[in-house]
Order: sequence, then C-alpha cells, then structure tokens
Amino acid sequence: MYRLSRRLFLAALATLAVATTSPSWAADKLKVVTTFTILGDMARNVGGEHIALTTLVGPDGDAHVYEPTPADARALAQADLVIVNGLGFEGWIDRLVKASGYKGPVVVASNGISALKAEEDHGHDQSHAKTHAEKGKDDHHGEPDPHAWQDLANGRLYVANIARALAAADPAHADDYRRRAAAYDSELAALAREIRNRLDAVPSDRRKVITSHDAFQYFGRAYGIDFHAPVGLSTESEPSAGEVAALVRQMRDEGIRALFVENITDPRLIQQLAREASAVIGGTLYSDSLSGPTGPAPTYLDMFRHNVSEIAKAFAS
Ligand SMILES: [Zn+2]
Repeated sequence: MYRLSRRLFLAALATLAVATTSPSWAADKLKVVTTFTILGDMARNVGGEHIALTTLVGPDGDAHVYEPTPADARALAQADLVIVNGLGFEGWIDRLVKASGYKGPVVVASNGISALKAEEDHGHDQSHAKTHAEKGKDDHHGEPDPHAWQDLANGRLYVANIARALAAADPAHADDYRRRAAAYDSELAALAREIRNRLDAVPSDRRKVITSHDAFQYFGRAYGIDFHAPVGLSTESEPSAGEVAALVRQMRDEGIRALFVENITDPRLIQQLAREASAVIGGTLYSDSLSGPTGPAPTYLDMFRHNVSEIAKAFAS
C-alpha cells in the first residue's frame, strides 16, 4: 500500500515537474544548479547518478553578459545546492538568488585558487593612453580575473570544492562523491602532464597567441604561453581603433601567427585583425563555455584537449 502510493506520488511529482518547470527534477536526487557548462560538467563527473543537474548558461553561452530567465529563478527555488564560479564572473547571480528565494548553500568553486588580477600583462597596455573619463567605464584593472578554470591545477581545486559541497549536502552518498572525485582528479592530473609535455617542445619566441577576450591568462601562466586580446576580461567591453591598431602592429613586429576566435564571442574583431595583419585564423578556442554534445569540446577535459591541439597546430605552422 505504502509502496504504491509513494510511486503514485512520485509519478504525480514528475508530471508536475515536466508540466510546470523546464528542469525535470527527479524527486529522489540532489537538485544541483550550476551557473555555466564547465561547472556543470564537473558536477556531473562528481555527482553522477545521484544528482539532478541544471546549468543556467548553456553550451557556447556567454556568462559575462547573461540575462537570467524566469525558468532560472524557478530552478534555483527548487535547488538543494547552487554552485558558482565566483571572482565576479556571474555578475547577475546574487540578484537571481535573491529573486528566487533560494536559501541553501551557494558554493564558490574557485575558493582557494590564487587569483590573477586584471592588471597583469595581457596586451592591452594601450588602455593606459585612454582619457580618465574613458577609463572609468570599461577599466577592469585590479579586479580578479575570473577565468581560473583555464588552468587544470585550478580545475582540480574546483572539483575538490564541488565534491566537498555534494558530500555535505547529501551525506548518504558522500563516499561515492569522494570516490568519483578522486578518479576524475587523476584524469585531470594526467591531462595536465600531457599538455606540459606537448607544449614544452615549442620554442619560446613562438609562444604567443591572440584571442578575442582575456580568458586565457591562467592558461598562459600554467603552460608558459603569452596570450593577447583586443578585449579585456569581460566580453562587455569593446576595444578602441587605437587598441586594435596597436595589436596589429604587435602581431607584425613579433611575428604572431597563432590567432583564434572564441566559441562565445563575435568573430568579426579577430577576422579584422587577421585581415589587417595578413594572418590566418587558426580555429576556435573554447574559453568560457563548452560546446554542445556533438561539438569538439563537450566536456572540460575535451575543451583542454581541443584548445591545446589547436594551439599546438598553430605554433607548428
Ligand atoms: Zn570571459
């Protein structure tokens, strides 16, 4: 009798969930919301079948300029756990949490990483030439760089933070979360070694890459590559004609041949740079978001494999 009514109850819940909200929560799973695809993939790796996952900014989406929807607020309202990147990446998340009425834990996946600042060298020195008034608007100097996931060592910290949070929220499956996190961590560590081996062979004067926005400072620091971008840390800003011209000069002067568009940004600026510097675009790097399941970077591990292989190809050409 109890079994039957419980089953009916679950069926009713499932119908309700499908009918009234976009995420189809399974009633017996830990309901986890992540803000963007990279965190979603990490949570799926650690949580496995024990979690029901909703990711707010989907494949190829840009979390810098995302505008939350009513469905996002509903997902948060029903969640047991919310996982965010932090470091100012999701400028909209605090308002969304408040609006949704969510009262549970908000886990900052980047907790404990050593954050880079926007003022580190990343090739838009020309911004110093701007007037004070111009600078006030799009100047991000001194702010933390949020793209910490682009260093696998940081990714391993993210995974440890996520595993701890899942275990605390769902103690019945804590051992499983720890076991899965340990297995995933070994994969991340192995890939980091592989990348270092692969890129170590590149001569130092070739280790220069142009991308759309400053998403690869952590990657650059970890793997010894110098990234330059016409746009700063957030895709919100736009470069001046002077900044673009300076980057074209730098490309010519330093013979920079590795030029990439990003999956989340408008390619036109990079196409313009390629034209003006007579350079060829090497392909697409995945910066702030994974691809969909049929694309070249559907997982965090795939994203690194793809980006490194594209960059290595451009260095070899
Ligand atoms: Zn970004």
